[in-house]
Amino acid sequence: MDVPSFYACYLLKSLSFPKSVYIGSTPNPIRRLRQHNGLISSGASKTSKRRPWDMTMIVYGFPSKLAALQFEWAWQHPHKTLRLPSETRSIIRGSKSARKRASSPRFDLKKSAQNVFAMLTSDAWSGWPLKMKIFSQEVWIIWKQILDKASGGLPAHITLELDPRKRTVETKEGSPAHEIPLRPGKIREKTPLPGSPVSKTKRLIYKPDEFGGVQGIDLLATKFTTDHLEKAEKIFDNGIEGKICSICLKPFSAKLLQTLTSPHENIILCTSGPCTHLAHVRCLAAIFLDKSKSLLPIIGFCPGCSSSLSWIDLIRGVGIRAKASMKTKAWKIDNDLDLVLDAMDEDEDIGSSGDTSSSTG
Ligand SMILES: [Zn+2]
Ligand SMILES: [Zn+2]
Repeated sequence: MDVPSFYACYLLKSLSFPKSVYIGSTPNPIRRLRQHNGLISSGASKTSKRRPWDMTMIVYGFPSKLAALQFEWAWQHPHKTLRLPSETRSIIRGSKSARKRASSPRFDLKKSAQNVFAMLTSDAWSGWPLKMKIFSQEVWIIWKQILDKASGGLPAHITLELDPRKRTVETKEGSPAHEIPLRPGKIREKTPLPGSPVSKTKRLIYKPDEFGGVQGIDLLATKFTTDHLEKAEKIFDNGIEGKICSICLKPFSAKLLQTLTSPHENIILCTSGPCTHLAHVRCLAAIFLDKSKSLLPIIGFCPGCSSSLSWIDLIRGVGIRAKASMKTKAWKIDNDLDLVLDAMDEDEDIGSSGDTSSSTG
């Protein structure tokens, strides 16, 4: 079961041209911001003239890379996407001549934030298990204004976190160092603050990714992994014998234990807090799909604890456990070939279609 690793759509703001914004997507916002700012080479040529850039917010938790790319495109082209009702799009109207000259409308920080809000609350995306992090106080203030005006907020399952850049402050001897949030996009030393025009000849000493914020993104989902494994270890202390699926009430196949496949491949363990709800992958998938218009499970509620769960997180949990048990257990591969073949048959039922597609060309 392959789960896409971290993938985010992001909104940059130029600190030298405060009206310039840039929307992109990346599996690694930390590295990508460094590329945009020329701190490491390669890519990001489009943004090289308006450095330095500040990453103001990210949207992540997409069910696939393709889903992230579709989201990115719509956020970049809210005037073209068919998935967003036209009355919810925010576009800068400019003068007639400016409109004629420009091949596409312009967006500033506020319009971009309004557009992403419209997207997250639209039919097309409100059912996705997305998460948001806002790194800039400026966008946070804009966001609160958007919420004040909107009739409803974000869907409850979309998590939003304010995570401003932090800086460790050295304090007097004896008292511990502590962290304070920096003002967004603060340019240190002799340069003016963002918002005021900056002379191009002045060298900016801003280091946007120096202190937490973007830098603090948990790309490897370390906390999720440790928490999930800790919980799984307690539950599966004595293997899967005696454990049943809470939905169909059938025991988990012990046959799988003795084969090449990890038993965890078949079992979903709730990812919410201490809940220990266990289910077959396909049993829970059926429940998730029941009330959804989507063809693939995306989001649903745990039948045990009623928490809103992201399918991608559940499958990530399956993968984490499978990997861990592969590493820690000495594999007793049964020599009984029939048993192995049986289990492989069973595996095919679980999801992989035996479709052999032929390539042309
Ligand atoms: Zn079941
Ligand atoms: Zn649960």
